[in-house]
Amino acid sequence: MKYNRILVWFRNDLRLRDNETLSRAIQQGIEVIPVYCFDPRMFGKTELGFPKTGSIRAKFLLESVADLRQSFRRLGGDLAILQGKPEEAVIELAKKVEAKAIFFSKEVTFEERNVDKSLEKAAFSNGIACESFWQSTLYHLDDLPFPAKQTPEVFTQFRKEVEKQSKIRLTFPEPTQINYPSKALSSVASELPNLKTYGLEEPKQDVKSWLEMKGGETSALGRLRSYFWEKDLLKVYKETRNGLIGMDYSSKFSPWLALGCISPRTIYEEVKKYERERKKNDSTYWLIFELIWRDYFRFIAKKHGDKIFDIQGIRSQKDSWRRDKAQFQRWVEGLTGVPFVDANMRELKATGFMSNRGRQNVASYLVNDLGIDWTWGASYFESQLIDYDVCSNWGNWMYVGGVGNDPGENRYFNILRQANNYDKKGDFVRLWIPELQAIKGFDIHQPWELSTSQLRALKIQLGHTYPQPQVKIPKLEKAY
Ligand SMILES: Cc1cc2nc3c(=O)[nH]c(=O)nc-3n(C[C@H](O)[C@H](O)[C@H](O)COP(=O)(O)OP(=O)(O)OC[C@H]3O[C@@H](n4cnc5c(N)ncnc54)[C@H](O)[C@@H]3O)c2cc1C
Repeated sequence: MKYNRILVWFRNDLRLRDNETLSRAIQQGIEVIPVYCFDPRMFGKTELGFPKTGSIRAKFLLESVADLRQSFRRLGGDLAILQGKPEEAVIELAKKVEAKAIFFSKEVTFEERNVDKSLEKAAFSNGIACESFWQSTLYHLDDLPFPAKQTPEVFTQFRKEVEKQSKIRLTFPEPTQINYPSKALSSVASELPNLKTYGLEEPKQDVKSWLEMKGGETSALGRLRSYFWEKDLLKVYKETRNGLIGMDYSSKFSPWLALGCISPRTIYEEVKKYERERKKNDSTYWLIFELIWRDYFRFIAKKHGDKIFDIQGIRSQKDSWRRDKAQFQRWVEGLTGVPFVDANMRELKATGFMSNRGRQNVASYLVNDLGIDWTWGASYFESQLIDYDVCSNWGNWMYVGGVGNDPGENRYFNILRQANNYDKKGDFVRLWIPELQAIKGFDIHQPWELSTSQLRALKIQLGHTYPQPQVKIPKLEKAY
């Protein structure tokens, strides 16, 4: 169907390349108006008092929207910026510019779906059509070999079925022009908000941070180029992906994927190109394997709706969690007295990022060693992670919390064994916990094993310069 004027409402799809919503609008609209709406509800507080969007992610979002606006300006268009509830602000704009349709990307989770529904209702009562498109996954919803409501609960089964029976669609090319009605919009053109608008401080770049991540499609494609082609790291991804220090042990695509600055299909096509032109091995496959995990959590969220946020999870597990605010706060601050946990938590606080290895460990510690409500951990991650993705975050937490449907998996992580496998010399802990820096080698992971005189010689006083562990930590030798 052809429309005179279409509004393209951007959400977590802040890109031009492989953007079906935008491509369809350009095909179907005589004129197209791209719009982004900053929703104040995204900047509210969580029940625990954390900002829903912390300053590190907010900055990344602002950069991503600014980059998208630049891209449209290069095409001779622009990106209208609105502030307010999309179901009101986007409709107001559509009425004002007499748009006949609103195109947008589908989301799966509760709050986002509620916004969709209200927007569709308001559009309908104003005689404006709505068309929404499935984006963001590697495998398209319509190409799954099962209805979404029957998504297999176990990842391996999900992966095997999609790999065997579904095809990954080709990407949509980046549009080369856009017919944008500048005149109609001269009164609407608006400035980007800044962090202060939402009561957030400019995050300070921590000197220990190695992250080079700027929001936006331009940087996402730059990272793809540098990780695959310039640094040639894809061929060793499987061996390095469990690292802890530096930008290059893993792809770091996650913050851009979360806001849709790059699509998983674009990454997939580049992997295939790399396999043709450079090398094909377990590592090249493994990156795709990880992207299938991402799909899996999205389809599980679609299947189970708000249950993924529920304390009982999708298993209807009994709520026997502890809710000790003081202990939880020590975990947040990286002051649990367990160096491997604390180093990871301090990295998260300072940079907005934590490795996958770190996330598994700190989550297991909170849930299994402290027995604290897993939703508290998920809520803090939501606030703090630069790559927060509603399905990946709550899905992973649900699994670590043992309230997902993953039979047989023991998700207890023996912290010292993990530290021994992934930070044997203690360099990662030494980087983030200066007060323990003087301890050499692996001993930094268990300062409580040192004698009082050894500690005194290093000017460390447990309980004063660094905390005693909150709970007893299983010894390295103990098998699980
Ligand atoms: C408790 C917990 C919370 C998490 N919260 C998030 C979150 O909010 N957002 C997020 O993107 N990831 C989350 N993850 C998954 C994973 O830790 C990150 O995707 C990964 O560390 C990002 O770094 P990378 O891009 O370098 O990953 P790479 O190792 O390079 O992997 C490539 C991509 O595969 C996907 N991926 C990898 N592992 C997973 C996984 N376990 N689940 C889902 N997708 C995966 C990501 O999109 C990632 O960018 C969480 C994991 C845990 C254990």
